[in-house]
Amino acid sequence: MRAGHSVRVVHQDRTERPFLVIWEATRACALACVHCRAEAIPDRDPQELGTEAAFALMDDIVAFGKPPPIFVITGGDPFERPDLADLVRYGKSIGLPMAVSPSATQALNPVSLAAMRDAGLTALSLSLDGSTAEVHDAFRGIPGTFQRTMDGWNAAREMGLKVQINSTVTLANVHEMPEIASLVRNVGAMTWSAFMLVPTGRGTNLDAPSAAQVEDIMNFLYDMGQIVPTRTTEGHHFKRVSYQRDVLSKLGLDPVAELGLGSLYLSLTEQARDLGLVEPQRVRRAPLNVSSGNGFVFISHTGEVHPSGFLPISAGNVNSSTLRSIYRESELFAGIRDVTLLKGRCGECEFASICGGSRSRAYAASGDLFAEDPLCGYLPGSFKAGLETAGSG
Ligand code: SF4
Repeated sequence: MRAGHSVRVVHQDRTERPFLVIWEATRACALACVHCRAEAIPDRDPQELGTEAAFALMDDIVAFGKPPPIFVITGGDPFERPDLADLVRYGKSIGLPMAVSPSATQALNPVSLAAMRDAGLTALSLSLDGSTAEVHDAFRGIPGTFQRTMDGWNAAREMGLKVQINSTVTLANVHEMPEIASLVRNVGAMTWSAFMLVPTGRGTNLDAPSAAQVEDIMNFLYDMGQIVPTRTTEGHHFKRVSYQRDVLSKLGLDPVAELGLGSLYLSLTEQARDLGLVEPQRVRRAPLNVSSGNGFVFISHTGEVHPSGFLPISAGNVNSSTLRSIYRESELFAGIRDVTLLKGRCGECEFASICGGSRSRAYAASGDLFAEDPLCGYLPGSFKAGLETAGSG
């Protein structure tokens, strides 16, 4: 399966140099959101990487070569680290594009954001799981987080920072997706990313859509891609969906009939129509060919290196090895890049080379890193239109 125009290809050797490096600077956070990957705690862990160790980590990231990976400082809440501005300043000074992913606490305010911008911050990512305080705060389990998020979003935009909005999709908030898309269109964002649940951390308790519903959601996200810049997190089969939709579009075929889309797709589409999210406003941006361990690496607060923040298997620790050697040479990272190791439907799938499924979700669901992705409903070989046009790009 050729990626064609349906997947954006990172023009670098992803086995040698990641495109994105995410570091969990701390697990401390004043919030305790119901879905938290990090199972955040109120206080900082004495074992977390200190300032000098973080500087050394950033030096190691720069040593991957040019262009340097984007470096995202996440948490917990990065604002729990008093050295956050120093970290951003240092990263910027050695050439790293710096991003921060803060929690919606009182620390997320125009003064602290201006300090980050002055230190050299390029981008900010914020969580938004509902289009109103009522829905978002209920989803997060914490009153006031919607307004703080909106205030931080607006302030960051006014300061010229790029903003990524992240939305976790569950059965409790899936009908908010069109309203969130509308908000993203109105306020403006670099990216809107829909997180497809991985049953890990506190997310284990959330109400995940079925695989068939995820097909509906991803097809809706594809449609929204011509209104706002959509992407997915742990939704690797969005690349397969994008490919299918591009092919159907070229052939003038109806995606509902061809892909068997269901009532959720129809109701999201109707809502979007009612909100005026119909006329194309931008050129759709194809998903990037980056996946866990293959263009992407996560470092925990204690320095453990993982292919994804949702995959609790470590390939080594930056306190005892370089990130470069772990990323390039470890058995775990080499294995996760090898599509011939995939099993079940992912192992038989003609889209495996551009998708491969979520290894984090496969592991969380079955204990087998290479099992099929349980939130993908695709039956390998069933996309006949794809076979007819395979190779045509
Ligand atoms: S079966 Fe696996 S490889 Fe194929 S599209 Fe689904 S998740 Fe991707």
